[in-house]
Amino acid sequence: MCSRGKRYVEVAVALPVSKTFTYEISRPLLPWAEVGKRVLVPFRNLQVTGYILDLCEATDQEGIKEVLDILDEVPLFPPSMIQFFRWMSDYYIYPLGEIVKGALPGGLNVTQVQTMGITNEGRSALSSRRLKTSDRAVLEALENRGPLGLRTLLKTLKEDISLAALRRLEHAGWIIREQKLKPGRVRPKKERYVMAVESRPSSASLSPARQKILTMVEGHGEMSFKALRAEVPSAGRLVKKMAADGFLDVVARSVYRDPFGEPIKSDDGPPTLTGEQASVVAAVLEKLGRGFGTYLLYGITGSGKTEVYMRTVAAALDQGYQALVLVPEIALISQTERLFRARFGDCIALLHSGLSQGERFDQWMRIVRKEARVAIGARSAIFAPFDRLGLIIVDEEHDDSYKQESKLRYHARDLAVVRAKLEGAVALLGSATPSVQSYYNVRAKKFKGLNLWKRIENQALPDIKVVDLRERQGGRYAKPFMTTALKEAVAETLNRGEQVLLFLNRRGFANYPTCTCCGEPVRCKNCDVTMTFHQGTNAFRCHYCGYTCAQTVGCRACGNPKIKLLGLGTEQVEAKVKTIFPEARTARIDGDTTARKGALVEILKDLRKGNIDILVGTQMVAKGHHYPNITLVGIICADLSLNFPDFRAGERTFQLLAQVAGRAGRGSRRGRVILQTLNPDHFCVVTARDQDYPAFYEHEIRFRRDLQYPPYRRLIQVIVAGKDRGQTARYAQRLGEICRALQLENKTYQKEIELLGPVAAPLARIKKVYRWQLLLKGLRVGPLHALTRALKTRAEREIPKAAVKVVVDVDPMDML
Ligand code: ADP
Ligand code: ZN
Repeated sequence: MCSRGKRYVEVAVALPVSKTFTYEISRPLLPWAEVGKRVLVPFRNLQVTGYILDLCEATDQEGIKEVLDILDEVPLFPPSMIQFFRWMSDYYIYPLGEIVKGALPGGLNVTQVQTMGITNEGRSALSSRRLKTSDRAVLEALENRGPLGLRTLLKTLKEDISLAALRRLEHAGWIIREQKLKPGRVRPKKERYVMAVESRPSSASLSPARQKILTMVEGHGEMSFKALRAEVPSAGRLVKKMAADGFLDVVARSVYRDPFGEPIKSDDGPPTLTGEQASVVAAVLEKLGRGFGTYLLYGITGSGKTEVYMRTVAAALDQGYQALVLVPEIALISQTERLFRARFGDCIALLHSGLSQGERFDQWMRIVRKEARVAIGARSAIFAPFDRLGLIIVDEEHDDSYKQESKLRYHARDLAVVRAKLEGAVALLGSATPSVQSYYNVRAKKFKGLNLWKRIENQALPDIKVVDLRERQGGRYAKPFMTTALKEAVAETLNRGEQVLLFLNRRGFANYPTCTCCGEPVRCKNCDVTMTFHQGTNAFRCHYCGYTCAQTVGCRACGNPKIKLLGLGTEQVEAKVKTIFPEARTARIDGDTTARKGALVEILKDLRKGNIDILVGTQMVAKGHHYPNITLVGIICADLSLNFPDFRAGERTFQLLAQVAGRAGRGSRRGRVILQTLNPDHFCVVTARDQDYPAFYEHEIRFRRDLQYPPYRRLIQVIVAGKDRGQTARYAQRLGEICRALQLENKTYQKEIELLGPVAAPLARIKKVYRWQLLLKGLRVGPLHALTRALKTRAEREIPKAAVKVVVDVDPMDML
């Protein structure tokens, strides 16, 4: 980008302010001013980091300050992303500079440590004695004290020196600025490869060992050094010499490992598409490169959606575009990454929370430098700095992990559609259990619907049997744990040498420990929830704040020492399974067993090797994994999420049940599912049993319409949180009053928007913080936003400052 003549920049500072600011660029910095770079600017009486959003030639503002320094050598994001950032700031009512800061890889703050050092040219300049005093002072300081950070250097110098002067020295080649990265950053793994050369010396005089190496390498064309040494042990010594003599070439290449630590080989090219897949791909390709469009691909589990994604990505790359593939957080150990790597090789960047900051930064820069043309990642990958995006794929688009529940509360699936629109790209959303919102958008003709109705090779869907937990079994009421039907099915499956998955969406041993005397549950002292008993640690633990207390404390309400362990969790399921099937090898996947890094991968590895017969797990096992030898899925209790005080409880229950059931029989044998429930006639259970998404949707959408919930209405939630119970409540009440007053002043607000609350949140206290909610419900997003903004402004003006935090959540997902 040419910045000639453009002396001003629009800067968003990384602070909670809503406006952007204009700064002037001094002449020495001018050639480096580019959109997408970070700058250091004076702000009030601080020096802060900001981001250049625009360059301009003139400004009518007075008292413009100067940019102190430009922090990046290359822009960190392309100009095309600025409209995206501005859109987010507007829609989510969030400071622009903080959005940019949150979008950039966190490792940047680490890289900000810059040092200055003297070069050899600088040294000779120093001895040639024809220098300005200030320049000399800088060079001498660096020569005598070694490389210094900017701050230290400025402190060391007796007189003030401008940053522009340092720039001048730098561009004279006398000093060098280095970005110091945090030590211990992980570098991409490299491996050496030995290759044959085109014309080499005659091999007649070579020793037998050298001859053998040459024959092997020439036979394969190329071999990894490791593989070669396995064949010829002396290769370690000989290869280097042979390369020096011109017989071979040695190259170092990055190798990518799958999450199991195994190298990924490239696949044998794409399979022939099924008829259904071919027409889905054709529909997307028709649009690709011809402007914005959104597709929702509803494809049942095992219908081959990933192959559709890979074909469309390949087509986008062929047309010179870049592509973005979003996957749910947990799927970072799913097949997706492995399959894409095998197909596309090196041009893939990975962005997810499992990476260290250094790795994330590397991946980001690979996109900036255009080394990567495809990015795969969890929700934050939506900010990948592509400048020619043709396709954005959102796999498992219904997944809740796309919603960020802190800081900027964005939904990556919604942002995928917005970014595609702004860049004229295609958005392809896929799921076996689409969100009600997205399916509604198909019906409303905002998205185009695509379908895969059949499994690959017409493999049968699992056979799902519903077992009523209320029925008497053998003269007794069934224990709500394992019915005879499930027990028999597990035994049969184990006898055949196949694997079983038992699903219960609640971790711990017992989640409702209760006093045998007064009936009070054991409550957390910091939160408004009951604590869960964990047998592994023999203690009660709060799942919200982590507070733990010994089992021996007894009832806090009446002092009775005896606590009854009610409420079943995965830890207890595993313990009971061990007593019923003592021979079986069991394992458990939940928040407790996978807290340690790498633990989840180890369990999955064992599962794949066949070292586990029965796997017990929470919703962590429902997502994206492919377990070919699991032929039986037992759902211990399908009803846990049905009665949550949240209008999406039904949707979540259906999705969870259908997804867990979809884990059965993904290999060559047909799968079986036993679904235990207290509500066998509930439509979520019935439609999940029939794997009938359209039927579920028809039922659910009527409920949403009758009660005027999304997608028929838009929601903005305002959360008030504070440590003082009274102050928080009063603040929330005042917000409510102001909101009603604003509605009285404005007919549109009055007519279109409904205020629910303020009320104490269902989880009224978490981590010692009291929480209140106001819910604004409206038909159109414009008036809703306008009212929310007006509410914020007036509250800041009228409510006396209090130690409360006010958070705006646009399109909230978490209603608790
Ligand atoms: P989904 O993501 O829809 O649940 P997958 O993408 O996992 O389904 O596909 C299921 C299986 O079918 C995978 O093992 C995949 O490799 C295979 N598959 C997909 N498409 C084809 C095809 N056209 N021919 C043969 N096998 C295919
Ligand atoms: Zn707690």
